[in-house]
Amino acid sequence: MAQIIDGKAIAAKIRGEIANDVKILAGQGIQPGLAVVLVGEDPASKVYVSMKEKACQDVGIFSDEHKLPAETSETDLLALIDKLNRDPRIHGILVQLPLPKQIDTEKVLEAISPTKDVDGFHPYNVGRLVVGKPLFQPCTPYGVMIMLKETGVDLKGKDVVVVGRSNIVGKPVALMCLQQHATVTICHSRTRDLAAKVGQADVVIAAVGVPEMIKGEWVKPGAVVIDVGVNRVGDRKLVGDVEYAAASERAAAITPVPGGVGPMTITMLLYNTVESAKRQAIGNRQ
Ligand code: NDP
Repeated sequence: MAQIIDGKAIAAKIRGEIANDVKILAGQGIQPGLAVVLVGEDPASKVYVSMKEKACQDVGIFSDEHKLPAETSETDLLALIDKLNRDPRIHGILVQLPLPKQIDTEKVLEAISPTKDVDGFHPYNVGRLVVGKPLFQPCTPYGVMIMLKETGVDLKGKDVVVVGRSNIVGKPVALMCLQQHATVTICHSRTRDLAAKVGQADVVIAAVGVPEMIKGEWVKPGAVVIDVGVNRVGDRKLVGDVEYAAASERAAAITPVPGGVGPMTITMLLYNTVESAKRQAIGNRQ
């Protein structure tokens, strides 16, 4: 049976280190601040925003919440972002997606100062990741990399197969693995013979959004399986993109869903916010 990679335990450890860093910054008169902007009433977004707010409070980060009505204009949202970009109490700005139809998401993400872009979605930060000099790394893929590190997986020379090529998970995690000297294959909906591709992988990273589509029998014995997928089946049950029970029979280590990658995403958001505050403190001293 595979080792279960416990995302909750790894997240708790990292959050402890973050809380400690926040205390050290407090000794220098600095409190990291995260602005979270929510437009509209999307129920899932509301839950994420309140989870982020609580996580900030738990580690001592100042959480500056902005809840705007669904009919907010693009101009008003851009004006708020401009204000937050210039606010010295704020080290990170997060605009919860999706945004209402009248607002151009790309325009909004590009308006966030790259030095406060804790989600790592600004093209400047994407570019920095591509050239191997990241400033902010997007939270979910960054969380995956920390989990691999904490599990003792050395990616050098390994064959990594990433299933999914989204801008928020698949592409950035592939780049991060490449940076760690893995040989990376990125698969997507037009990939031929996915089973064979997955079967070659020392490390499989699934970020698809289709319940249990990666079959356990595809997994190479001894491989490490990271399942980013979160899919609701039936009324309450959450499952990943990997057929967990069957994959656990073959893998050396595997992340469960829930309790795997999920807890890492907000953790890395906190981490990015604190790093941003540290950078600003150093900048102010120079
Ligand atoms: P997207 O829908 O943006 O991307 C899905 C990717 O999967 C696409 O690249 C798509 O290919 C590919 N794909 C779809 N069907 C197949 C298929 N049959 N075979 C191979 N590839 C396929 O999803 P996200 O990247 O945003 O999210 C992926 C999953 O991760 C979701 O379950 C989401 O809920 C979860 N997630 C979890 C987070 C967490 O904190 N744990 C955070 C973010 C996401 P193509 O490009 O060709 O369409």
